[in-house]
Formats: sequence, structure tokens, C-alpha cells
Amino acid sequence: MAELIDEANERAEFNISIAIANARINHDAVSATHCKDCGELIPEKRRVAVPGCTMCIECQTLTDKRRKAGTA
Ligand SMILES: [Zn+2]
Repeated sequence: MAELIDEANERAEFNISIAIANARINHDAVSATHCKDCGELIPEKRRVAVPGCTMCIECQTLTDKRRKAGTA
């Protein structure tokens, strides 16, 4: 019985984490047409896939790397 409860708890936590991840993405946000860093055109595909994005993939990747490295 305890195992069943554990499983239910795990599933609930999983659902919550998905809800949080979805909430972080603002689906109504307007994506920038041009990268705020380098000014390159952001491909339509990316703007649709990442609502509210303000950077091209290259700059976003760089920013993410810097952020992970703790320098930004
Ligand atoms: Zn860029």
C-alpha cells in the first residue's frame, strides 16, 4: 500500500513540474523579430516554438552557457 502512495506522489510531483515549466513559458508573449543581441532575424520557427524569445539561437545558447557558468 505504501508503494502505491509513493507512486501517486511521484506522479503528482511530475505533473506539478510540467505545470511549472508550462507556466514559465508565456504563450501569449510576443517574440521579437530580431535578436536583441546581434540584430539577426529570428527564424519564424523559433519565434513560434519559443514565445517571447528575444534572441537568436546563437545568442541564446551563449547566454545560457554564460548563465550556467555563473558569469551572467
Ligand atoms: Zn543573436
